[in-house]
Amino acid sequence: MINFDSVTKIYSDDSIALDSVTFDVSPKEFLSIVGASGAGKSTILKMLLAEEKPTEGAVFFERVDVGSLGKKELNLHRRRIGTVFQDFKLLPGKTAYENIAFAMEVAGRSDEEINSDVPHVLDLVDLSDKAWNFPNELSGGEKQRLAIARAIINQPDVVIADEPTGNLDPLNTEEIVQILKKINDLGTTVILTTHNKQVVDSLGKRVITLDRGRIVRDDNRGRYIL
Ligand code: ADP
Repeated sequence: MINFDSVTKIYSDDSIALDSVTFDVSPKEFLSIVGASGAGKSTILKMLLAEEKPTEGAVFFERVDVGSLGKKELNLHRRRIGTVFQDFKLLPGKTAYENIAFAMEVAGRSDEEINSDVPHVLDLVDLSDKAWNFPNELSGGEKQRLAIARAIINQPDVVIADEPTGNLDPLNTEEIVQILKKINDLGTTVILTTHNKQVVDSLGKRVITLDRGRIVRDDNRGRYIL
């Protein structure tokens, strides 16, 4: 489904972020990418979203080179990928319900679909009782559950989560991991970047370890080893 083919990324200041990185991700896989800060994790996610282009090599999504997409195709491509970030990126002036509804409006979904899907996804992330609260009235864990609900509302093929538990305590971290697992069990491919050893070890899924832009390990049912 996703293929990184000898991807090298050198940013304008000559820093090598990725050095000939090759890996494939299958549909419905749960992949964690670990590595120290600066190892290249976010760069991999940005290439998949085609926010950055490879200096050498190519990134394929269902055999299409994402670096070659035009503006319109790029929008469609990005809609197939739900994103979750460490700092949530919620809209502060909208309630939990409205944050999710807005993502559906932007994707051109009807009011009927919005009215039926938003309560369902709020229930999935256990936030039904916070539907009318604003982000600043939610705890960190609740904010991240809302961000996940928004990421999956348009039924993407892939969810990418960039350090989603970076700002959370262990209890909330475990909750987020369980929700990502549930989403994966329901059939969505998940790609997670993390620093957190506990997260990776408790998942027991595939782990790619990056070190200064190179893949140094790629283990099925891996553990966090640096
Ligand atoms: P990680 O997510 O593992 O912390 P990144 O992918 O953010 O790593 O960064 C990998 C390397 O690329 C680092 O050395 C970082 O400083 C560099 N880098 C990332 N983004 C840029 C950029 N926009 N311009 C220049 N260098 C960058």
